[in-house]
Amino acid sequence: MFFVFDGADGTGKTTQLNRLADWLSEQGHEVVTCKDPGTTELGERLREILLSKSDTPIHMRSEMMLFTTARTQLVEQIVRPALQAGKVVVLDRYVLSTVVYQGHAGPLDPTAIRRVNDFATDGLWPIRTFVLDLPTEIAMQRLGDSLDRMESRGMAYFEKVRAGFLAEAEGQPDISVIDATRTADQIAEAIRTIAQSVIEQ
Ligand code: C5P
Ligand code: MG
Repeated sequence: MFFVFDGADGTGKTTQLNRLADWLSEQGHEVVTCKDPGTTELGERLREILLSKSDTPIHMRSEMMLFTTARTQLVEQIVRPALQAGKVVVLDRYVLSTVVYQGHAGPLDPTAIRRVNDFATDGLWPIRTFVLDLPTEIAMQRLGDSLDRMESRGMAYFEKVRAGFLAEAEGQPDISVIDATRTADQIAEAIRTIAQSVIEQ
């Protein structure tokens, strides 16, 4: 079973991912959590390139392919083997981030990004994606001052990111938008309820 947490920066994905992972473990599942981009050695090195504020020019198509390359490695080295071993995988970001950040908020065609990612992941899609949604001002406030290269793109970019996630979720039963303005306990409870129903399907 493969779950993904996604959404703009500062929406509390990581906190909620850990809460769901803990709960799934309590239910007796073997759970693997990981982060995209990251987790693998190659993924961490690409993450460093993507997020550090260096002067290296990175074209948006290069950026998209680097995120996607990190993802291929994560899928083949960790996610697919874990799923084949019957474990539950809970992943922090996935293809949807790239569709939204480089497509909806960036200049690339979301459909082309999907196509590239279908190849890159060899068609591995999550059973359910939780998109945490928060007004952009609140999310940006939570991020504070130490912003990475992506997070420094400013308010207008992040408004497009938020709108992109909501647009992608529209009419998609495998994407659940979670109102992240509530307390952490309320959010965790809402996510557990959905996860439970997905498991029982
Ligand atoms: O830790 P976090 O998941 O936030 O780090 C990933 C960073 O990369 C975020 O700042 C996010 O805005 C950015 N990102 C992106 N495009 C993606 C995935 C993440 O710009 N496809
Ligand atoms: Mg971030």
